[in-house]
Amino acid sequence: MSESGSPRDHRILPKVTATNEHYWRGGEHGTLVLLRCRSCGYRLHPPTPVCPQCLGRDLAPEAVSGRATVATFTINHQPWYPGLEVPFVLAIVELDEQPDVRITTNIVNCPIPDVRIGMRVQVVFRAYDDVWIPFFEPEVA
Ligand SMILES: [Zn+2]
Repeated sequence: MSESGSPRDHRILPKVTATNEHYWRGGEHGTLVLLRCRSCGYRLHPPTPVCPQCLGRDLAPEAVSGRATVATFTINHQPWYPGLEVPFVLAIVELDEQPDVRITTNIVNCPIPDVRIGMRVQVVFRAYDDVWIPFFEPEVA
């Protein structure tokens, strides 16, 4: 699932490299993609060249479900740069497949007062140029 960013959304985009391309472009196909160690099965985020669990270097991109739980969040009211729309929810979510994979994201498609710690969420992508930013929205059962 994806949707276009609004023209007023002047998001600062990440620098896409060979190391993180799977993460920022996986949304083109509607999937959240993380590196996984082929030696021990550990999922890494953010991407690094070496597995922190077994020090293996045999890492490959692999899709995950995109389902997660809100671990913590804050509501940002500060327009940190011109064009940034506020308020918005800045959250850390824990992936179902491996809760110690924590993704910093925004909670979208949800009234701000309804966001809760422990809330079930799912990934939704917004495309900006050739980057697909993963956001999270309330889970549809
Ligand atoms: Zn490993």
